Amino acid sequence: PADVEQLGRATWTFLHTTAAYYPERPSPAQRTHMLGLLNSLPVLYPCSHCASHLGECMKANPPDVTGRGSLSRWLCERHNEVNEMLGKEKFDCAKTDERWKDGPAD
Ligand code: FAD
Repeated sequence: PADVEQLGRATWTFLHTTAAYYPERPSPAQRTHMLGLLNSLPVLYPCSHCASHLGECMKANPPDVTGRGSLSRWLCERHNEVNEMLGKEKFDCAKTDERWKDGPAD
């Protein structure tokens, strides 16, 4: 349904942007909060089949919250797993900052 798509776009925007601005060297508290945010998604995300699929993906590939670059890549890979499942094109994870932080170079 349309709201699963709108919810998805809004959530990916929030998650990728938050990862793009996460510190290079997060404090222990920032890591704990980021882990809490990500681990809450399989429990609370209001599309239940999406939530359980994400939970399976996160079991196979636990979140890497050690820094901005690794978190952004981890999230890009999880999003690509969903893209693949839905038959969408895979996103080039080298372009994560361009899309979610810096904007296109000109
Ligand atoms: P979206 O996939 O929403 O992407 C938005 C924008 O992000 C794109 O336009 C592109 O610029 C950028 N982008 C695309 N891929 C990446 C990437 N890998 N890394 C960084 N940026 C990228 N829908 C279902 O039908 N079934 C599901 O099981 C399902 N699970 C989901 C799980 C989660 C955690 C979330 C947040 C969403 C889920 N969705 C699911 C929704 C789905 O992923 C899409 O959000 C929705 O189909 C709308 O797709 P879209 O083509 O507009 O772009």
